[in-house]
Amino acid sequence: MYKANESRYEGMTYNRVGNSGLKLSAVSLGMWHNFGDVDVLENQREIVHTAFDNGITHFDLANNYGPPAGSGEINFGRILKEDLLSYRDEMIISSKAGYYMWPGPYGEWGSKKYIVASCDQSLKRVGVDYFDIFYHHRPDEDTPIEETANALDLLVRQGKALYIGISNYSAEQTKEIAKVFKELKTPFIIHQPRYNMFDRWIEGELTDVLEEEGLGAITFSPLAQGLLTNRYLNGIPADSRAARSDSPFLSEEKVEETMEKVSKLNAIAVNRNQTLAEMALAWNLQQKSVCSVLIGASRKEQVLDNIKALENQSFTKDELAEIDRITK
Ligand code: NDP
Repeated sequence: MYKANESRYEGMTYNRVGNSGLKLSAVSLGMWHNFGDVDVLENQREIVHTAFDNGITHFDLANNYGPPAGSGEINFGRILKEDLLSYRDEMIISSKAGYYMWPGPYGEWGSKKYIVASCDQSLKRVGVDYFDIFYHHRPDEDTPIEETANALDLLVRQGKALYIGISNYSAEQTKEIAKVFKELKTPFIIHQPRYNMFDRWIEGELTDVLEEEGLGAITFSPLAQGLLTNRYLNGIPADSRAARSDSPFLSEEKVEETMEKVSKLNAIAVNRNQTLAEMALAWNLQQKSVCSVLIGASRKEQVLDNIKALENQSFTKDELAEIDRITK
């Protein structure tokens, strides 16, 4: 029977999410990949145990994580039920609705019909009564923003979500929905954007809005899906995301395109006595409004390496300028 490490809170940092009362572990674990039915359950269990044993309190899901879609929630739910249920109050579990989940006009995007049904399905798959954070996964130009906000607000009123978040919304869209949430008094606290050294879109406009609105950011793909690690320094391993056919979002071409930059970044990391993954995460946490970096991991060793990012989070001006020169 699993028993959590008693010193699990000692090495982790917990950051406040915007102006809210909620704190998240500076490193959070996401289940977009590596938690589907195509992945080995015992490995998933080891990853989750290692994360929780080392102070990671936040576990991020979405309706469509797998493959197949839904299996990420089912597999995490099984690990939760079998090992971690007695720790439920020490965990922040999130899910999302927005991407395609079932056929017909009510299976994706941002209508109230879809969001409410999808959240109910997700709660059943994970086997919990409520999500700590529930997100709208992507903006929907065709649904009035008031309707989407109302649907998310309803989930809170019904006790199915404690806090609300949005993901992939532009600065303008964030401002717009924040206004509606304010009127509704919804506990809207967090934005989940992609952010890493290679993808800087949040810098400036979005981070300014987050600061003005008192919102936190949890950044996804902070390692650019593994590019910003030592994973590809000596070629493309057969078990890596870039080589896996069930993971079409990172290609071998993309690895080749970025290799030169990655080698230069790795040299900076080595000088700092860090792995490239550690440096990339520490760098990400320097951005204003970022309260947590949302990592993926295909094995427990990656979780341990990534948490070590917290041991050296300061950068010299020269290091930052050099990183910008290489990546911008
Ligand atoms: P990362 O950028 O952290 O990439 C994770 C991958 O990087 C791992 O699967 C592994 O690749 C590799 N890796 C991780 N740590 C190390 C290490 N220390 N050394 C070497 N390689 C390492 O994040 P993801 O792209 O996986 O996204 C993280 C989470 O963000 C998702 O699980 C999900 O919760 C969320 N997300 C949200 C989205 C949204 O639209 N809101 C979209 C995408 C993600 P390998 O498998 O090759 O070993």
